[in-house]
Amino acid sequence: MDIILLGPPGAGKGTQAQRLVEAHGMRQLSTGDMLRAAVKAGTAVGLQAKAVMDRGELVSDEIVSALIGEELDAMAAGQGAIFDGYPRTAAQAESLDAILSARGRSLNHVIELGVDEDALVERICGRFTCANCGKGYHDKFEQPKVAGTCDRCGSHEFKRRPDDNEETVRTRMAEYRAKTAPILPIYDARGIVSRVNGMADIDDVTAAIEQVIRG
Ligand code: ADP
Ligand code: AMP
Repeated sequence: MDIILLGPPGAGKGTQAQRLVEAHGMRQLSTGDMLRAAVKAGTAVGLQAKAVMDRGELVSDEIVSALIGEELDAMAAGQGAIFDGYPRTAAQAESLDAILSARGRSLNHVIELGVDEDALVERICGRFTCANCGKGYHDKFEQPKVAGTCDRCGSHEFKRRPDDNEETVRTRMAEYRAKTAPILPIYDARGIVSRVNGMADIDDVTAAIEQVIRG
């Protein structure tokens, strides 16, 4: 099963993708994570992407679609993919169709996480992740069970994203409204969109997504 988690920055896509990976052995394909890895590794793509990401603007369609194709090629044929933060433009949505069909795959669900924009700045500015395993947390909404220790791997090191500040978040939201929200009708026309209330508690959002997947 291949699904897209769609929603503005901070909607909870990464949080829910991590849960789907654990529950179903699916693979999370986050273009944001791939780009951050490229920046860290200092690759040509990373060097090109860094300034754009720091501003909260979108990296080129060609770069992100190439990254997605490479990741899909590294997956087992039967493993489901969760697209997190991709596609973000109409051109990317078109590329994804071509990328999937070339590999004999197709989209089963587009799950839109509906959120109140006022809540997103607080969510994003309080977000942090385990520096070792990448598990996501929040200062207020999802703290580690033992303060300072990752629930999943026991590491004591955490990190915050440089673009998780209020100014950049505003740009990222504007990009979402202008370029990403308009792709929903493409999937609506195919009858594969399910809307989930992303303002609910994290566990309740997970339960709603599970219901969509079970059909
Ligand atoms: P996205 O991947 O869509 O940008 P994240 O999954 O990283 O968003 O979520 C942003 C922050 O909000 C994280 O710190 C996460 O712990 C927290 N969060 C996610 N879902 C919820 C929710 N339903 N209620 C409250 N906080 C949430
Ligand atoms: P994210 O981790 O999804 O919040 O993405 C972080 C940043 O990476 C974004 O603000 C963009 O600069 C860039 N990015 C991630 N995914 C994409 C994409 N599909 N298209 C364009 N830019 C992207």
